[in-house]
Amino acid sequence: MAAIKKACVIGSGPNGLAAAIALAQAGLQVDVLEAEPTPGGAARTMGLTLPGFLHDFGSAVYPLAAGSPFFSSLPLRDHGLEWIHSPAPVAHPLDDGTAVVLERDLQAARISLGADGDAWANLMRPFVDHWLEFAPEVLRPVRLIPRHPLLMARFGLSALFSAEAIVQRFRSERTRALFAGLAAHSFLGLDEPLSGAFGMLMAVTAHAVGWPIARSGAQSLTSALCSVLSTFGVNVRTSSRVESLAALPGYDVTLCDVTPRQLLSIASNRLSKSYQQQLTGFRYGEGVFKVDYALRDPIPWKASECLRAATVHLGGTFEEIAAAENATRHGKPAGLPFVLLAQPSLFDPSRAPAGKHTAWAYCHVPNGSKDDMLPKLEEQIERFAPGFRKVVLARHAFSPADLEVMDANLVGGDIAGGVIDIRQFIFRPTWRHYATSARDVYICSASTPPGGGVHGMCGYHAARAALARLGAG
Ligand SMILES: Cc1cc2nc3c(=O)[nH]c(=O)nc-3n(C[C@H](O)[C@H](O)[C@H](O)COP(=O)(O)OP(=O)(O)OC[C@H]3O[C@@H](n4cnc5c(N)ncnc54)[C@H](O)[C@@H]3O)c2cc1C
Repeated sequence: MAAIKKACVIGSGPNGLAAAIALAQAGLQVDVLEAEPTPGGAARTMGLTLPGFLHDFGSAVYPLAAGSPFFSSLPLRDHGLEWIHSPAPVAHPLDDGTAVVLERDLQAARISLGADGDAWANLMRPFVDHWLEFAPEVLRPVRLIPRHPLLMARFGLSALFSAEAIVQRFRSERTRALFAGLAAHSFLGLDEPLSGAFGMLMAVTAHAVGWPIARSGAQSLTSALCSVLSTFGVNVRTSSRVESLAALPGYDVTLCDVTPRQLLSIASNRLSKSYQQQLTGFRYGEGVFKVDYALRDPIPWKASECLRAATVHLGGTFEEIAAAENATRHGKPAGLPFVLLAQPSLFDPSRAPAGKHTAWAYCHVPNGSKDDMLPKLEEQIERFAPGFRKVVLARHAFSPADLEVMDANLVGGDIAGGVIDIRQFIFRPTWRHYATSARDVYICSASTPPGGGVHGMCGYHAARAALARLGAG
């Protein structure tokens, strides 16, 4: 009988856990080593402000997890995960005291977007209707001949453009502003290629799978993944930071849920000089400045429609958001930053004591920025919710450096595992993708395709690549 192969996974973020599950499903004996005392990486929930308030330290809203082909194949619900959908996925308030609300149902969105409804629906419908074919193609390395060539050609034709080019088809400033907020998730300038793809992907997920939050927070997704893993007899070994692969003998394969800089530090003696050079050339992206709030009351939005959405985008018009993103992309703090805000306790009472609320907000900053963005971030919230500061009971701010202390993958506060421009979209982190120059060492973090976000697909594809090489897939 062939000996059982042994695998080690370093890091228990969503991608490390996905990799570990895929390896265990294939019959490998798996160890998972996690540096922090709690598994989950940027999918953890903790008390950061006052007793009884629960905050998502990193990710909070889960379109890509809900739409992930791999996560969808797992019985996560049976392991305690419950998605909660707010009535609308996202709201975008404007200075006139109203908000553009993106409805989850595409037909309802077509009606609510008025003059732009048909253009919006025509752009999104092919991918919404074919999400189950589209998701596996878009959440993997680019392939020359995709399994659904017509669908992907159609996406490529629109998506390669910038957000600025895509909004030309919208007549209303309101729709253009909505699309800017979606595209700004890319961390790219809104005039850069691929920024349109992000905007479209965010919109398509809103209609196809929604933008849910997890009941009791991000940790319940991580706990569900850990619970699935435990059915294979695998438990995450926490507080076990790996400083060097030399300390881990005896494994047939090691998958590293780390970014290129960390891989260079823990595995350099195993990697060829040319591969090390390629990793050194990998570029990190902008960072984020993040604040968690304990609130006495719900946020006092001028536009009460904002209370229908778990996610609210604060930045005003397309032009304002483009200017803010352009500044940070060029290494300068934004005058008034674009703010992504989540208000989970409106839809999940387990996050705060009865009648009280939480909010989660961040803005983009240059990588490693030391600027205190708190006043500007709150100015942007106050612009659309006058009196916000008066309902704040306590706040906890994370600079980019603070985030990196909590999770070593958040290099300089970069939450996406590296810039995703065209070059790093195709060669992520190198042309080898998950493989490295060492036959038994793989990288499986968000620094591999398809990139940042909680979907586990980097881990899943890395595991499939490792299994294929071991002849165990
Ligand atoms: C503030 C913030 C907001 C975000 N918002 C969202 C959102 O709403 N929705 C969404 O989909 N995504 C969001 N993201 C992005 C998403 O969380 C990440 O893209 C995702 O977590 C990446 O998963 P990962 O497994 O690659 O890395 P991580 O989640 O970063 O996990 C890496 C793990 O590896 C461990 N590790 C690192 N080095 C070592 C070592 N040497 N030894 C042992 N362990 C090690 C770390 O401690 C960590 O636990 C957000 C991220 C942040 C920080």
